[in-house]
Amino acid sequence: MFESVLIANRGEIALRIQRACRSLGLRTIVVYSEADRDAPYVERADVAVCIGPPAATHSYLDQAAILLAANATGAEAVHPGYGFLAENALFAERVVEAGLTFIGPSAACIRTMGDKVAAKKAMRAAGVPCVPGPDATLPDDPEAVRRLAHEIGYPVIVKAAGGGGGRGMRIVTEEAALLDALAVTREEARRAFDNGEVYIEKFLTHPRHVEIQVLADGHGQALWLGSRDCSLQRRHQKVIEEAPAPGIADALVAEIGERCARACQQIEYQGLGTFEFLFEDGAFYFIEMNTRLQVEHPVTEMTAGIDIVQQQIRVARGERLTLTQADIRCRGHAFECRINAENPNTFAPSPGRITGWELPGGYGVRVDSHAGAGYTVSPHYDSMIAKLIVHGDNRADALARLRLALDEMSVSGISTNLPLHRRIALDPAFSSGAVDIHYLERRLREGA
Ligand code: ADP
Repeated sequence: MFESVLIANRGEIALRIQRACRSLGLRTIVVYSEADRDAPYVERADVAVCIGPPAATHSYLDQAAILLAANATGAEAVHPGYGFLAENALFAERVVEAGLTFIGPSAACIRTMGDKVAAKKAMRAAGVPCVPGPDATLPDDPEAVRRLAHEIGYPVIVKAAGGGGGRGMRIVTEEAALLDALAVTREEARRAFDNGEVYIEKFLTHPRHVEIQVLADGHGQALWLGSRDCSLQRRHQKVIEEAPAPGIADALVAEIGERCARACQQIEYQGLGTFEFLFEDGAFYFIEMNTRLQVEHPVTEMTAGIDIVQQQIRVARGERLTLTQADIRCRGHAFECRINAENPNTFAPSPGRITGWELPGGYGVRVDSHAGAGYTVSPHYDSMIAKLIVHGDNRADALARLRLALDEMSVSGISTNLPLHRRIALDPAFSSGAVDIHYLERRLREGA
């Protein structure tokens, strides 16, 4: 059982992980870049080590520097957070080889799920419904590719097997555009992911993004902790998330949840994970699995009443889950807004010094953030500076609380997307629930 954790991340999630560690009485070792010297979790760490300059490739992505820091400080475990090295199988392997615990699933599970074709194949074998299309990468023969697309039926989407972050995808609406789209996606995938393998599947025209949170221990027990709806996206990036996914029958969610939990047992998955689905016309279609803690985990924490990060660390320590599926109940409704340092109209990043910082408060309101007045938002990283999370007895109650909280919150010195969040919170379609993944972009195009 480890007693110290090296947090290989930055920003709000470094602070969130540090809090979970401290609640368990564990020592925290923080690694930071020169740009994050003044972050609150650096100050609160038992040991803090500067691992390099601001550019992530020379700090948060530098595996050797992180492993060296772990070795020098006597860290016994590594928490990768999300982004950076969180889904890097090689890093997980190196952590274990160094004699440390990687707080996450096995490198083998990360590797399988990191290849979307392998993931789809594994999930289909485990009885999880997938988007129609072959569980195989595309052959070189153009005639065979045409045949496959024809069998699926247009529109189809060409996707990079090694893709991520919303990149390496192309929609094809007619046969004439198929081979060009394939060539461009292949080339893009080769450059971005060093893997030119691509596959095709049916393009769903009006799906919602619904995901299932799972938690599994190393003793064969796996639970699903409810659903989240993350349909409100811009450029495949989530903007607002909520739990549970509104308007889907409990029995339908439970059925898919059970399948996800069973799939975890089948692939001997350990730790936290998320099964992402597209949900269209009453049916779920698996798209990918994230083998890590997610940005939007708080909405599940608020509705399930479970400290997910603490549970993740406990199962990594080898503990058995004491919770059973019968203990998991969804209570009320929660929303999360990703507050970004960006221009609310052009979405251009807006780094700089925060001069004013007013946070909302009261019953059912939570803010996860590492920022504050006097904090300088670095241009080197993701622009998210805070997550505003609210909980209410039901969706209408939570939405009313969200509107108040957004009104109370103010940030000055830099621009943020708070005005966009306030508009969305008042939007009639969003308010009535269950918008599809294209809704936000449609509204933005209309100038709303
Ligand atoms: P990434 O790993 O890059 O996030 P995903 O496979 O999770 O890629 O897909 C990201 C987003 O792309 C989804 O949330 C959805 O908006 C869209 N998408 C992916 N596959 C399909 C599909 N078959 N039909 C329609 N939209 C899709």
